[in-house]
Amino acid sequence: MGSKECTKCGVERGLEEFNTKKSAGDGRRSACKECENAQRRERYKKNPKIYSEQVRKYRENNKEKVRLKNKAYYVKNKERFRAKANEYRKKNKEKISLDKKAYYQEHKEEIKANLRGKRLDDKLKGYDEFLKNVKK
Ligand SMILES: [Zn+2]
Repeated sequence: MGSKECTKCGVERGLEEFNTKKSAGDGRRSACKECENAQRRERYKKNPKIYSEQVRKYRENNKEKVRLKNKAYYVKNKERFRAKANEYRKKNKEKISLDKKAYYQEHKEEIKANLRGKRLDDKLKGYDEFLKNVKK
């Protein structure tokens, strides 16, 4: 394994410290990974909007994919989420009951409307069925 000097920081590093670049003579980029990471962070700091815009666009173009991914993640970790929620509930009983009351007062109508709709568990059941069909 060889090594070369990074054009940015001038430090001699092993080739594995450089990202690959097929078109380069030695198959590696001229700046080391560390410098490239720093550069990326710098770019992000200067213009975080570009990145959030990219994320937004991806989500928009892949709505269904993102939605399924989120749901699959939830289904996969359902027990963990529940355990966490239970633990939180135990620790914060009083706070939660106060919060709940306040929340209920504020959202009475919405809550009533929601109760008439489908429950989350029913939705998840439907989703399980859907996954089974997709796999086939
Ligand atoms: Zn460097």
